[in-house]
Amino acid sequence: MLFSQVKGQEELKQRIISVIDANHFPHAILLSGKDGYGNLAMALAVAQYISCTDKHHGTDSCGQCPSCRKYGRLIHPDLHMIFPTTTTSSVKANNESALFTDKFRQFVSENGAYCTLGQWHTYMESDRKQGVINVKDADKIVSQLTLKPYESTVRTMLIWNADKMNNEASDKILKILEEPYPNTVFILTTQHKERIIPTVLSRVQQITVPPIDNVSMQAIVKEMFPDISQDELNLKISVANGDFTALKNIDSFRQQELRQIFVDINRIAMMYSKHILELTVYAEELSKRSREDLTEIFDYYANTIDKCFLFNNNVSTDYHPLFWADGKFKDKFPSFITANNIEGIYKLTEQTQQNIKYNANAKINLTDTLIKLGQLLANR
Ligand SMILES: [Zn+2]
Repeated sequence: MLFSQVKGQEELKQRIISVIDANHFPHAILLSGKDGYGNLAMALAVAQYISCTDKHHGTDSCGQCPSCRKYGRLIHPDLHMIFPTTTTSSVKANNESALFTDKFRQFVSENGAYCTLGQWHTYMESDRKQGVINVKDADKIVSQLTLKPYESTVRTMLIWNADKMNNEASDKILKILEEPYPNTVFILTTQHKERIIPTVLSRVQQITVPPIDNVSMQAIVKEMFPDISQDELNLKISVANGDFTALKNIDSFRQQELRQIFVDINRIAMMYSKHILELTVYAEELSKRSREDLTEIFDYYANTIDKCFLFNNNVSTDYHPLFWADGKFKDKFPSFITANNIEGIYKLTEQTQQNIKYNANAKINLTDTLIKLGQLLANR
């Protein structure tokens, strides 16, 4: 990744480049900010620049030297990537980053390094399990440290979403961070600095990755949507709030479809007692969709419900969770999601997805889900 491929963040890039050029780069840094602000992109650009053999000092890596070419494809042998993993249908036990490296490379490349942990979970097919960085990952780092870097003078240990390290892994990493290793830099990223143990925090140089500034966002949006009106441009910028991943997801066709289904499911469920026929017809229509499609629909559903709950409880969210919906639904719906029913709705969503996965009769399953959902929403 070149610095020029990192969106915005000009000030931060300059600051980091000058520290590297002056040979003052610390042995461990923590980039903290939302993934969509460019944590990972920045981490990869830093690693590539450090390792580049023909860098344009003060500006960027060359992009051409053997090291840059390997970094560009994330296949440099001195780039070690650690990230949260779960067990999956193909990795049934002992999950660790090393077993997912190819998949992670592909994932990061497809997304230009602007990707969220949630997207990664979907990509690795974690099936709603929460990813963890465990002690096996830390052990891998330790075993690498006993070796010399393979090709470069410096090797990079990248830990993406480092707050997902469990206690055992944190302890082990802490010991490593206590003493700098020659020819090794650690680049950690996090969206939740407060979840990293203080002893680890005190051993890394903390760097805040801020939201992408408005001027850069305007340029990015104009490049993505050359014919956009000023009003639409302003809306996108305010919704995305400096987050490039959010910007990418605002208006795709699929997003629009998922939003409409979210509205329909709730509308139909809420009138279950009076319009049961309409409900069964809708359930049958939904049941014709593929399993993957339905799984995504209910992922989206649970996610949006979560946002509505936070919004309803005045937990700061950057924008209205249903900003795309019209009038009454947008104004009223979040108030239906309360502490009384949120757990039940999560469980119902999960159960529905399980049933979908195991090939239960989809029409009966979905009819049942819609009725139960109606009951839960009535019971706020
Ligand atoms: Zn280079």
